[in-house]
Amino acid sequence: MTAEFTPTAKPIARLIEEFNKLPGIGPKSAQRLTYYILRASAEEAEALADAIRTIKEKIILCSTCYNITDSDPCAICQDQDRERSIICVVEEPIDIIPLERTKKYRGLYHVLHGVISPSDGVGPEELKTKELLSRLNGGSIAEIILATNPNVEGEATAMYLQRLIAPLGTRVTRLARGLPYGGDLEYADDVTIARALEGRQDM
Ligand SMILES: [Zn+2]
Repeated sequence: MTAEFTPTAKPIARLIEEFNKLPGIGPKSAQRLTYYILRASAEEAEALADAIRTIKEKIILCSTCYNITDSDPCAICQDQDRERSIICVVEEPIDIIPLERTKKYRGLYHVLHGVISPSDGVGPEELKTKELLSRLNGGSIAEIILATNPNVEGEATAMYLQRLIAPLGTRVTRLARGLPYGGDLEYADDVTIARALEGRQDM
């Protein structure tokens, strides 16, 4: 969006520009959303602005699993009906959603907040690896499921964690193949994820 050449008023161009930064929103959708807001009532527009502000103010990371939450520990860590001896390790908080949707997984989670990626300068220290290891110290964890994405960084991160955890005597498994290689967990369908969970293999 080159602001100088647009015939639109500055506040409109600004909102289009902001929407355009969102994932999956191209210039056309950004324009459509902006004109939608323009036609909406002041209350509707305020509700949207308030929802955006609140998410930044109220959402914190769970101090146990590092999932995003508005209570600490998060609802999953607090849930006593869940299997507390299994931890599923994921890259990002958003990866928990497809796993929960399958309703096949009843254990706990651990969010790494990234993957090892030397080309981006991300090493294990930048991830929540130390925090994962400290959860294993109590000896109550029987299995760690590595559910990082099936791509180069995800595999490298899984290998790294396996080497770190296996000597501690905890069983380490990886989601079964079948998830599209190079794809994200986030976009896989429920059946594929459920099958990958059931067919998980020892590393
Ligand atoms: Zn938690």
